[in-house]
Parts: sequence; C-alpha cells; structure tokens
Amino acid sequence: MLYRQRLLDLPHGELQTPVLFPVRNLGKRSSDNTPEYISSIPDLPTAMINVRAIRERDPMWDRLTNGVSLREEMEVPDDTIVYADSGGYDFSEKDPDTTPQETLETQRLLEADIFGTVDIPLSRENRSAENQRRIDRSIDLALEASTHHDGDELLLASVHGYDPETIRNGIRYLERRGEFDGYALGSLVPVRTDYEKVTKLVLAARTATDKHLHVYGLGGLVYQPLLLYLGVDSFDSSAFIRSAGNRNYLLPGFGGEELWNIDDLEYLPCPCPVCGSRTLDDIREDRDALVVHNLWALTTELRRFRYVASAGRDIEDYLDLRFQGNEVTQRAYRIAKQQVRRLT
Ligand SMILES: [Zn+2]
Repeated sequence: MLYRQRLLDLPHGELQTPVLFPVRNLGKRSSDNTPEYISSIPDLPTAMINVRAIRERDPMWDRLTNGVSLREEMEVPDDTIVYADSGGYDFSEKDPDTTPQETLETQRLLEADIFGTVDIPLSRENRSAENQRRIDRSIDLALEASTHHDGDELLLASVHGYDPETIRNGIRYLERRGEFDGYALGSLVPVRTDYEKVTKLVLAARTATDKHLHVYGLGGLVYQPLLLYLGVDSFDSSAFIRSAGNRNYLLPGFGGEELWNIDDLEYLPCPCPVCGSRTLDDIREDRDALVVHNLWALTTELRRFRYVASAGRDIEDYLDLRFQGNEVTQRAYRIAKQQVRRLT
C-alpha cells in the first residue's frame, strides 16, 4: 500500500497531506475571479499560483512590489498555504524567459510556502531529441535553483520524462547533486488519457524517492483517487474552474455531467453548502456557485479516501467499488493495482 499521510511544517502553517492545491488563475487575463473557497472549505487552505503569470500582469505586479502581499491581493487569510510554480507551461514553445534566481526572488516576494523550479515541459508532438534536451535543461535549472535556495520554504524540483527510467534517473541525479525537499512531476497532462503510462511514470517517481512527491495538473476527479493510491503527497487541478466554464457538474463516482442535460430535477444530488439548499435552476445560472461546488466535489473525493484509510477499511476494496461505474477508469485502476502489487 503506497497511500501515505504526512504533516508538512511550512512557513504559513502546518499542512496535512495528501492534499489538493486548487489552481488560481491569478494574473491570467480571463478568469482571475476564483470565488472564495478558502474559508468555506476548512481542509483546503491551499492555492497553486503561477509565478510567471503574476509577474507578467503589470498592475498586479506593481501592487505586489509596492507592499501589497499576495494574500491580500487574493483576499485570503495569512495562513493560506501557497504553492508557486514557475509557470513552465507557458514556455512550451520556447526557452524560459526567466532565470532560476529571478523566479526564486519572485516566489520569495510572494511569500509562497512551496517553490517549484523553472522547467520546460515536454510535448507529445516533439521529436525525442527535443524532449531529451528539455528534460536535461529542466534538471540544470533545478540544480541552479538548489544552489540559490536557503529558506524554510519547500523547494520541489520539477522532473519530466515519458518513460519510467528517465524519471528515476532524473530524480536520483538531482538527489545526488542538489538539495531538494521533494520532487514535482510535470508534463503528464498531454499523456493523461494513457493511464498505463501515467501510472508507470508516477510509480517510477514514487519508488525513486521517499521525499514529498507532487504531480502537476492531474488532480481532477478521476486521477485523484489513483494518485492517492499511488502514494502521491500533493497534486493540483484547475478542473473545478474549467468544468464550471462548460457548465459541467462534478460528482465523485460519476465524473462530470453537463447541467444542460438535466431538466426534471429540482435539487442536485450533492449535500455541499452550495447544492444542499439551492435548486438546480439557481445553480445552473451561477458560475461561481458551480466552481465552488466542483471544488467541494474534489474535496469530498479526498475526504472519502482519508475516511476509508482512517477507518481501517481495505482501500483496494473501496477503489474496486469506486471505479466500477466507468470502464475507462476501472481499467486505469486495474493497471495501477497490478503494478503496485508487483512492488509490494
Ligand atoms: Zn455540491
């Protein structure tokens, strides 16, 4: 069994893992306005931000460099745990326009608790030589960050690769040459429908290190239980915002449902503070309500998993049940289970 719980001691407080970091689109032009969730979901005092997007947004950057704190800007309490990634996804077409040192300075200015190193993600369409160059470059950038980092914040080295050996070697190399509090696996979004591949890559990382392991971009409803099962400590997701934009209602065990398809129902099947007392028509018209509900759905998934573990129930039995409704995810889980059993 690879599922594990730990307590992180971070500059802005303690954090129980495994945990989800909801992606905040702070700095991105279209959708800054993530509705307030930090005070309403008590076990989710977390946010993932993109350092590069914030630095690129002039008015906000001016405020932040003139004494307004990131948490004030986000209108969240001081004890909010912030994970600042480098924004590597925006470099996918070119080389980074920042240095590890500059990114560290920004992460520090924003008073983030967890720092992700500058990286260049892979693409399925790239030739393998180009992807290999990106893998090597991301490793060098991580080592450079390690040289310049000396604070209480966690420094997680970004690791990329499309085969288990590359991941394993990357982590071992970084472990020997640098000083990291953990590792963050990137570039999985483009291959996310290949569950077997993703499972193998995550397992390669999990078995290469006992330190904190984060997985970028795969914290949605389907992946969350899989990542928990594979022993991942944290993950992030923007699925709750994206789905709400498509009027997609997330429900653990069922996945997403387009609200336009449902007509003859007065109340939705979720007891969260959003849905519990409001009618379907009401929620259908309210994007913010849908965003918050979707986040509750992701939180519920995590709470259920914690409950099963803490009640001493068999996690594999629970996941057998949890995935039985959907052929694709059932297959994904079966693959993961075979690989985990081979390990233990
Ligand atoms: Zn709800």
